[in-house]
Amino acid sequence: MSEFLSGRARAIKPYTPGEQNRGRSFIRLNTNESPFPPPNSVTDAIAETSARLNVYSDPEARELRRAIADYHGVAPDCVTVGNGSDETLAFIVASFAGERGIAAADVTYSFYKTTASFFGVPYEEVRVRDDFSLDAEKFHALDKLVMLANPNAPTGLSVSNEAISRVAETNPDSVVVVDEAYADFAGFTAVPLTARHGNLIVVRTFSKSRFLAGARLGYSVSCPELAADLERVRFAWNPYNVNAMTQAAGIAALSEDAYYRPRWREIANSRGYTKRELRRLGFFVTDSDANFVFCRRDETPSAALYAKLREAGILVRLLPGERTGGFLRITIGAQGEAETLIGILEKICGGGL
Ligand code: PMP
Repeated sequence: MSEFLSGRARAIKPYTPGEQNRGRSFIRLNTNESPFPPPNSVTDAIAETSARLNVYSDPEARELRRAIADYHGVAPDCVTVGNGSDETLAFIVASFAGERGIAAADVTYSFYKTTASFFGVPYEEVRVRDDFSLDAEKFHALDKLVMLANPNAPTGLSVSNEAISRVAETNPDSVVVVDEAYADFAGFTAVPLTARHGNLIVVRTFSKSRFLAGARLGYSVSCPELAADLERVRFAWNPYNVNAMTQAAGIAALSEDAYYRPRWREIANSRGYTKRELRRLGFFVTDSDANFVFCRRDETPSAALYAKLREAGILVRLLPGERTGGFLRITIGAQGEAETLIGILEKICGGGL
């Protein structure tokens, strides 16, 4: 830190992204990306738009917001877009956390706490159960900006839409956010609830289930009043936050469910296979609905598992934290990768590696 860094910036605790490929080609099961590329119509849309980069992107992202709105059966003025859903989450914290601050699970996506530190707002942690499931009743009547990931990260565990509705109803004076980064892998969404709950915002991303992590595109769906508040903050930050190529990619991706759905099914099948095989090898594994599993094997320290997998060319995420330390989060991709992973773990756990 230089002597020039402000006190406020000193208090910010940066997020640590997963390790990227450097020099060697790893099987990357550490950042919850898709192993599948986006469909050709998406890359074609990006190429076409790239010829017109002399003009600014549409600051209101009208076509993209209409496409998102049509996809979900809501009005375009219910939608706001972000440079990845991390930015959308940051707009939400900037808009609604205020002095009361944020309440979130103690085991959840660590970026919520990072964003709280960025904006200097209080952050309260609500303990999940010993089996890592979320006790939604503990989120009733908190009177703070409630942030829930559903399915949760890094556990992959979901709560029902009924439970989400109750959280929204019991916090009438504050905003409730449901971060659905992994919802397409779970097969249900709380978006329809936003028509009933004027304090509910659902945040989604193209990074995971639309195979566009590098394009950086996220969005929120809410009642028009909350969306207008978010637009106000977005226009104060960067009206051109989503570049023209990414807007075009998002529009194309939304009409490609015929491409995506079979691949979501493959991911769900290889998730089922991975859970079963890990349990057979003596791992504790949560019943994840997402494109990753959260696991630990008591007999083998996770740091050793992590290091041996890395040596064998597979990157996984070794989690820090009081309750998650000692757990691995492993991305689920294509079936072939899952089989390679299990084959190597079998050797490690059997003492052969
Ligand atoms: N929410 C959750 C729960 C996540 O795991 C992630 C990815 N790390 C994000 C949001 C942010 O994803 P992106 O900014 O790529 O949309």
